[in-house]
Amino acid sequence: MKAVDTEAIVLRTAAYSEADRLVTYLTPAVGKLVGIARNARSSRKRFGHCLEPCSRVTLTYKPGTGLAWLERSQLLDAHLALREDLPRWSYAALITEILAEMTPEGDAQEPLYLLTRSTLEQLASDPDPLNVVILFLVRFMRTMGHLPDFQQCRVCRAPLAGQGQWIWQLPEGRLLCPAHRANGSSPLELDLGTLLLLNQAAQLPLTRLWRLRVRKDRRQALRRALLEWVMAQTHRPLKTLKVVAQFERLPQPDPPGIG
Ligand SMILES: [Zn+2]
Repeated sequence: MKAVDTEAIVLRTAAYSEADRLVTYLTPAVGKLVGIARNARSSRKRFGHCLEPCSRVTLTYKPGTGLAWLERSQLLDAHLALREDLPRWSYAALITEILAEMTPEGDAQEPLYLLTRSTLEQLASDPDPLNVVILFLVRFMRTMGHLPDFQQCRVCRAPLAGQGQWIWQLPEGRLLCPAHRANGSSPLELDLGTLLLLNQAAQLPLTRLWRLRVRKDRRQALRRALLEWVMAQTHRPLKTLKVVAQFERLPQPDPPGIG
C-alpha cells in the first residue's frame, strides 16, 4: 500500500514489544491514527524525539488493517515551554488523554486538529492555563457533537435571560432555567454571563477563542463539571486527573459509575 504523508500530534506512546513502540496520533485527515514504530526503541534515526506526547510532527505511514506502519517522522514543535512547566504539562497530558479516548479512528477531523494544535500553543503561553483548558473542553465537546444545548431551558424552552442562577444538571447534561431548577445528582449553578460565554466559546472563530475569560470564581466548578461531562461520555475515569490534582490540590470530579 502507498505511503501517506501527514501532519500529526502525538497523543500517546507505549511500549509494544522489546523494540517497537505503539503510537497514537491525532491527524487532520483520518482523526485518531494508531501505528507501530518498528525498532523505535533501539534506533532513534527515523523517529528521534518525535514520539513524545504533545509533539507536533510530520509523519509518513503505510495504512494497514487495524494498525498503521509508521515509516518516519520529523519534529515540527516539541512544545518545550510546556514540558518545562509541570502544572501546564499536566493539563496538556489531560487534554491528550481526552483526545485519545474520544477521537474516532478513520474520519476527517480537521477542526479538531486545528483546535488541538492551537490549544497546545496557547497552553504554553497563556498567563492563565486553566482558562485555556476550560475553553478547550467547551470547544472540544461542541466539535465532537457532545455539547449540551446551552441556549434554552430543557423543560420550558425559555431562552437565556433574566436574573437568577441556571442549573446544568449532571450527568444528564440538562440545562434548567431558574424556574425549573431541581435538585440533580450533581448540579452546577451557572449565571447568565457564564452561559453566554460558554455559547461564545462554542462558536467564535478559533483566532478569537482565547480572548474569552471565564470568571475566576467560576473556573474550578466549571472545569470540574466539564470533566464530569467528558467522563459521562467515555464511561471511564481520566487517569491524568490524579496528576492534575497534585498540582492544583483541589477537589476533582468523581469517576463515573462509582459512589
Ligand atoms: Zn424552564
